[in-house]
Amino acid sequence: MLNLILFGPPGSGKGTQANKLVEKYSLLHISTGDLFRYNMKNDTPLGIEAKSYIEKGDLVPDSVTINMLKAKVNENPDVAGYIFDGFPRTIAQAEALDNFLKEKGQNVSGLLALDVPDEELIKRLLERGKDSGRKDDQDKSIIANRIEVYNKETAPVFDFYKKQKRADKVLGVGSIENIFERLCSMIFWM
Ligand code: ADP
Repeated sequence: MLNLILFGPPGSGKGTQANKLVEKYSLLHISTGDLFRYNMKNDTPLGIEAKSYIEKGDLVPDSVTINMLKAKVNENPDVAGYIFDGFPRTIAQAEALDNFLKEKGQNVSGLLALDVPDEELIKRLLERGKDSGRKDDQDKSIIANRIEVYNKETAPVFDFYKKQKRADKVLGVGSIENIFERLCSMIFWM
């Protein structure tokens, strides 16, 4: 199994690269952001709860997010591996993921972090907000909050895996194809 965490701040290109990686490696793409948006669109109880956090650019509580992630993995057991996109975003989520995979006799193969400067992130998010309909991409103060939350709560997840020698940074600027090649050359060693 190849279980990859695609990591990086909002707007770093995780979704774009995940779509290319799933094709090449036949993995299942699990994006917690996409799962929340699907639930929000369908007004499920999970969507209604998540909405109040997402609209402010805050994280959805760990217990809610972890249960949703586990359910998605359990629904799809027969795959070559998973790409986790937008998860884990806190140390508690990282620990939960490690324990959850361990129970299944699996582990996280590695974490690849897309490295993109803040100014570029803000530019990309505002651009995406023009036609994605995502409210959290249309407001500068919400974007600023998401980046702040990333630096405070999510960035430590990189160090958590780095200590176990399972994390690397990949330059996330340049053409989509070049970034993809950088990621693939790192996956080769996993
Ligand atoms: P981006 O990476 O562009 O910020 P996502 O689509 O990954 O966007 O996530 C959108 C929002 O969904 C986040 O700002 C957060 O509120 C919520 N969210 C997504 N994944 C998680 C997670 N693992 N833990 C808590 N909240 C999450």
